[in-house]
Amino acid sequence: SRELAASVLDGLRAVRKALHEAESELGAIDAVAGDGDHGRGMVRGIDAAVTAAEAAWHAGAGAGDVLAAAGDEWAARAGGTSGVLWGAGLRAAGEEIGGGAIDARAAVTAFAERVMSLGGAEPGDKTLVDALVPFRDRLESGTWAQAAAAAEEAARATADLVPRKGRARPLAERSVGTPDPGAVSLALIARTVSDYLAG
Ligand code: ADP
Ligand code: MG
Ligand code: MG
Repeated sequence: SRELAASVLDGLRAVRKALHEAESELGAIDAVAGDGDHGRGMVRGIDAAVTAAEAAWHAGAGAGDVLAAAGDEWAARAGGTSGVLWGAGLRAAGEEIGGGAIDARAAVTAFAERVMSLGGAEPGDKTLVDALVPFRDRLESGTWAQAAAAAEEAARATADLVPRKGRARPLAERSVGTPDPGAVSLALIARTVSDYLAG
């Protein structure tokens, strides 16, 4: 319905605000063992995603198509590994929602499956998957707020890990003591959507 599509759009706007506020912090975390562009990439991605979602909404798209259009532009504009994964994940979530009601658990599961099959990372590799899997698992039986808390805790815990995937790999040892930037941003987005849904 138009109402569901409008709430997807508003949720994306809430995420845009949160990512803009976190841009420099995410860049600083990525600079420890990566190339320092994670904040910039996430901001470019969400800005393009919101613009695309607005256009889709004005063209009469439903909730699933709004989210899928947002994902396509995120992937096209963000640059970087995380942008490709976020974009593809949002498209998969949008396709799962389709024209029907929003089943958040099914949408998050579709997002996780796409991200993991495309990126090939598994829990323990020190990527955003380390926050995504606990988030998805907690959402199976818990509330969105509980799942967001699980993602935040898991993102913090990535500080202890040695990266096995992505650009941080060559500087793996330097990364120990710092959380994975993609896990931190995923937890931030989970928390932002949780707060949005709680009104
Ligand atoms: P880049 O590494 O290309 O500069 P970003 O800095 O935007 O891209 O994103 C880095 C984040 O991408 C990492 O912190 C990690 O969470 C995530 N990432 C990297 N490779 C993978 C992968 N194969 N699967 C899942 N996430 C990954
Ligand atoms: Mg980077
Ligand atoms: Mg980069």
